[in-house]
Amino acid sequence: MTTASLTIDLGALAANWKALDAMTRCETAAVVKANGYGLGVARVAQTLATAGARRFFTAVAEEGAAARKALGPGPEIAVFSGHMAGDADLIGQNDLTPVLNSADQLVRHLESLPGHAFAIQLDSGMNRLGMEPAEWAALRDIALAQGPSFIMSHLACADAPDHAMNAQQLAAFTEMTQDVECPRSLSATGGILLGPDYHFELTRPGIGLYGGLPFAAAQAVAHLSLPVIQTRELAPGETVGYGNTWAATAPTRIATVAAGYADGIHRAMGPKTSLWHGGVECPIRGRISMDLIGVDVSHLDEDPQMLDLLTANQTVDTLADAAGTIGYEILTSLGGRYSRRYAGA
Ligand SMILES: *Cc1c(COP(=O)(O)O)cnc(C)c1O
Repeated sequence: MTTASLTIDLGALAANWKALDAMTRCETAAVVKANGYGLGVARVAQTLATAGARRFFTAVAEEGAAARKALGPGPEIAVFSGHMAGDADLIGQNDLTPVLNSADQLVRHLESLPGHAFAIQLDSGMNRLGMEPAEWAALRDIALAQGPSFIMSHLACADAPDHAMNAQQLAAFTEMTQDVECPRSLSATGGILLGPDYHFELTRPGIGLYGGLPFAAAQAVAHLSLPVIQTRELAPGETVGYGNTWAATAPTRIATVAAGYADGIHRAMGPKTSLWHGGVECPIRGRISMDLIGVDVSHLDEDPQMLDLLTANQTVDTLADAAGTIGYEILTSLGGRYSRRYAGA
């Protein structure tokens, strides 16, 4: 059957990286965790390397190995979760740079892979990953003597520019990294937008590369079109889908498209979301099923073969608002059943 198709605009991806890079005077890395935010780590990483990225970030060592396969030798691939028990072979064989988060990880790394690259994560207040100030004070000399590739921390509230937490974490990170010689990195997409105080020597954007907020000027990267399986006429009073949540009040033409919540189209977005036929809005009717969605096409001149869910105007953040979540979750939920097409490289 004709499958739903997710088109990934690699030209827009590269343009977003260049736009974020142009906002700072320092180096810009690229975060490609979670399979390149759901869009396919191989093509995403290769495109960003061609655009100029020399450092990449993944969440876990397995993702780092996949990125290495796509990138080949050369670019640095750092792993946020650090050096976990059992990871030494993956880290060694794929030349990954674990971002060490604790004394335990530092010891494990220096013992199992002496002389191998590493970086350090400090906790500046988010309490998620990284060494606490006291732990860092005790380990600092040992760690710095081994020449870390960079030292980083992560902002909890960077998408809220006025939040007092930003300045608080900036002060904590600045204090903990005084007089270090290696590059320092505090900012993801949101931090880049907070301005030069937050940039240090290295930034690491993710969501902005993929067209998501808080980088409002981003170009849309993901476009999703869903095939229509069947179209039918409803008389007033007839209903659509599970639970009879929507009933026709006038003669209505309903198209059933082949995708659903198993493909990452969250059920919760149904009542507030439309599909698009060119510039014409076609509202979802009734509940989103696992694999199927009913769409009102009464006002179209023809029965459409495909309807669009993600477009330049209806972005991952539009869908996120309708579903009560964030663009990150919409992107990383996009399912494995879509045929992924890459355009505009
Ligand atoms: C995911 C992540 C990033 C990228 O964040 P975005 O908000 O997607 O730009 C950077 N640093 C860390 C530690 C992360 O977990």
